[in-house]
Amino acid sequence: MSSNDIRLATKLVHAGEIRPGVLGAVSLPIFQSAMFEYAGAAHYHDIKYIRLNNTPNHAVLHAKLAALENAEAALVAASGMAAITTGLLSVLKAGDRILAQESLYGGTHDFFTAHLGAFGIACDFLDIDDPASWPSRVRPGTKAVYVETISNPLMQVPDLEAVVGFARAHGLVSIIDNTFASPVNFRPAEHGFDLSFHSATKYLNGHSDIVGGAVIGRADLVEAALLKLDTLGGSMDPHACFLLHRGLKTLALRVGFQNGSALRIARFLAGHAAVARVNYPGLEDHPGHARAARLFDGFGGMLSFELKGGVEAAERFMKAVKLPIIAPSLGSVETLMTRPATTSHLGMSAEDRKRIGIADGLIRLSVGVEATEDLIRDFDEALR
Ligand code: PLP
Repeated sequence: MSSNDIRLATKLVHAGEIRPGVLGAVSLPIFQSAMFEYAGAAHYHDIKYIRLNNTPNHAVLHAKLAALENAEAALVAASGMAAITTGLLSVLKAGDRILAQESLYGGTHDFFTAHLGAFGIACDFLDIDDPASWPSRVRPGTKAVYVETISNPLMQVPDLEAVVGFARAHGLVSIIDNTFASPVNFRPAEHGFDLSFHSATKYLNGHSDIVGGAVIGRADLVEAALLKLDTLGGSMDPHACFLLHRGLKTLALRVGFQNGSALRIARFLAGHAAVARVNYPGLEDHPGHARAARLFDGFGGMLSFELKGGVEAAERFMKAVKLPIIAPSLGSVETLMTRPATTSHLGMSAEDRKRIGIADGLIRLSVGVEATEDLIRDFDEALR
């Protein structure tokens, strides 16, 4: 069996594993040791040390994550933001520019608008719905283009094939935050993206008990990110590696279920008289539906919606539901609900939120693995 014949669910369990297991252990133990005995390393980065991201717990995750996205290499980091900031700083240097979609995770948007400048790097936003306008945004020094597979919190699906074509035509590094889709639904390397970033806090781990991140993609770029991470120090601890490793094994089961459940919930909400708007790529009226149906293996477990009564109705609804936990973050076994204007996008100015289309009453829902019928009954009662 060549590795291309092996399906993702099988890779989740077997790819990258040390076999036979350490002292016969079926699960990889936690190597909770800051340093390892010197074994004649010729290069600094080969010295075994947690910050240098090379313990057995790191190595197994790196091999497994690369296999999941059919990419050349992968790297884990202490958080999604550690992966994103370190990854970007390994691609960009003073004098460079990056082009980005404007509707992004709030922390990433903040890094682009409030922090990159201090490194002498500029960010220009793209009208993501108008690929014809992108070439006019390329300026001397433009090095990379950055999008999210499914954007947070509006669930936009950019023209991902156009992004890759545009990057190639202009010699840019194409970067995608694949957190919302997870490798189950979309594998960026298969479509020509150079780098994919993840908040492993979300679907990859899936159990709301660690923060983590991943950089996956071209071997040369992942190597550059690794050297940068070794220096900046945002490395994942072996205990967190162990939890991520354990969570990953059920990724296909979780996300497969969440895809189906979120679609049923989106249809229920879209048909409800109290609901003004539902953003979910699985709904036929979503502007990116045809593209998502063509490119993705599932539409994901994330959706957002607005009630007819705006912020006040949203607040009452969120108090009335019994099963969802009102908490920022997503991609977990528990159904989570949040109002992005008060959490993930609080750092974005009110004007920016308004321009991008993030209403103050917008509710974001991360569908967990509870029985779909129970969630729909809970929502129905709360809406009433
Ligand atoms: N990317 C996306 C799409 C996110 O939603 C988040 C966090 O919510 C991040 C990155 C940042 O990840 P972390 O919180 O693990 O640093």
